[in-house]
Amino acid sequence: MRRHLPLALVFVAFPATCHRVESTPATRTSAASAVPDVPGPPAATVTGVLDAAPPPVASLVPFPFGLPSPIAKYSCPVVLAGGPFRAFLAASDTRVAFVDGDDLLAIVNRSPTGALPPGYAPRDLVDLRDLSPRAPSACDAGRACLRREAAIALRRMFEGMRADGLTGRVDSAFRGFGTQCWVFDGWAAKARGGFCEAATQSALPGHSQHQLGTTVDAFTSDWADQGARTGEGVFRNGFGCTRGGRWFDENASVYGFVVSYPIDPDDRKDGSRCQPRADRPVPIDPKTGYKNEPWHLRYIGVEAAARYHDAWVRSGPGTAAEITLEQWLRAQRGLAGDAELPVCDGCQCGACETMDAGEHENPCGDASLLLDAGGRVVFPKEEPRILDAVAKRGTDGALLVRIRVSVPAHTPTQTPVADEEGLRYADGANYRALSPYPSGLEHRYDDLRGAWRVAVGIGTGAERWPWRASLAQAGLGATWNRANLVLPGKAGDVVVRVGVPGTVVRGARLQVTLLRDGVEHGTRQVAVEEAGGG
Ligand SMILES: [Zn+2]
Repeated sequence: MRRHLPLALVFVAFPATCHRVESTPATRTSAASAVPDVPGPPAATVTGVLDAAPPPVASLVPFPFGLPSPIAKYSCPVVLAGGPFRAFLAASDTRVAFVDGDDLLAIVNRSPTGALPPGYAPRDLVDLRDLSPRAPSACDAGRACLRREAAIALRRMFEGMRADGLTGRVDSAFRGFGTQCWVFDGWAAKARGGFCEAATQSALPGHSQHQLGTTVDAFTSDWADQGARTGEGVFRNGFGCTRGGRWFDENASVYGFVVSYPIDPDDRKDGSRCQPRADRPVPIDPKTGYKNEPWHLRYIGVEAAARYHDAWVRSGPGTAAEITLEQWLRAQRGLAGDAELPVCDGCQCGACETMDAGEHENPCGDASLLLDAGGRVVFPKEEPRILDAVAKRGTDGALLVRIRVSVPAHTPTQTPVADEEGLRYADGANYRALSPYPSGLEHRYDDLRGAWRVAVGIGTGAERWPWRASLAQAGLGATWNRANLVLPGKAGDVVVRVGVPGTVVRGARLQVTLLRDGVEHGTRQVAVEEAGGG
């Protein structure tokens, strides 16, 4: 049996009224463009139902991510089987959900703890055209729906746009689990990299903010008309820098909406909020898990959006400390670090988290963090240890310290990650103030609980261990160094290279250690080879 789900391309333009909303939280200038998360490719089918046994859920308190609840039925074949791409989620990652969808401040993201139950749909969905109540099935069958409060707020926002001479429209609103499965399947079929690439562009079912019934993909009619003429549709690059895209970025929070996926400050062209840099590839934003989507607006309530906006202004817009909605929601729950890694969905980004405690294979293998039933990182019994450490002075006077460490699989470590050349600390830089990329912004990498790092120091000064580096594989830095978060260490004998300023070190006793929660493990002196002709 073939069930055909029409792709809801719904035009919703509300009539103008005389009610103009005055205040705008302005300071913001606008957002940009990259690759869509959203509906796109045509026709795949959702058939069959695969049952998965619910897992035992341990009673651990508190639950920062939400209370884990077993999933009785998970019915997205492409995710379970991987289709023709032979990539799939570990079965355990389809057996538990953490998110209470009714919570306007729920954390829904790509991580295992950011998942909604497949059966979840809001009970107060209304049709965006006339605000009449709709069953989730009617919404999934082509009606554009949101929860009542969000729908009313959207109507007000479009009135505000109209007053500024813009006509807003919605191209996707509530999407149930089944629809998201179909959307994701379509992306997997279309994307060159299949399942893996699709995972960076489209949310996995259960992990989409659209399932909350508070999220829309919104554009202007001008943008849509242009897309219709060229056949490119609305989900194309460039919307963020249009008047409509800038309007959302600057004004949406007045109406209770937030652009969930802005451009990471490190990826902005000359600081522009709507234009990504072109001098290097722009990967996903590690703080959100997605590329920029200037059209993806999530309703969190007018009061909460105002608090978020205040926090955003205080966080330092344009600096590496600028928050997104994700970091603000984490802060509300007392979660440390900027983000969680995605569920093991193909490892496009090289590292992932899984609820699977080793019973099944996952696409990341050892390059994964294992989570317990409460969503917390599981620590391997064995600890990492330093095998040897040597330092050489380069011709520029800097010291390159080479530390060899034995690292058990699934050892939690954290950014910053050294690339093949090593992590270079210039004069005055330390782990609280480091630009991990050439011409990049300065980041803070405060200790995250339980994470191991290699640390280099000279045993004097206020900061005992100013130069710290991850145990993760070199390739991960390009994506993940723009956030402070926990990563899996590279399993086996790992070589970490840390460049430290020669002026500080000259004549001092150089030391290395493994640091975890501020405690030193295996501290040792490093012999400095004064070679290199300096
Ligand atoms: Zn969206």
